[in-house]
Amino acid sequence: MVRTDPAPDQESIYECLDCGQRVSEDDLDGRLCTCGGYLQDISLPRPT
Ligand SMILES: [Zn+2]
Repeated sequence: MVRTDPAPDQESIYECLDCGQRVSEDDLDGRLCTCGGYLQDISLPRPT
């Protein structure tokens, strides 16, 4: 029986567009950084 484990460390990471601080989804408080900047989800694969 083949079992496929989802990657346990695949949690969403957000990066502040203003100060560059990275916040994990668990620590996320709303959609804004503590500095007031917008947090962008950087855990998604970004095709270029
Ligand atoms: Zn910030």
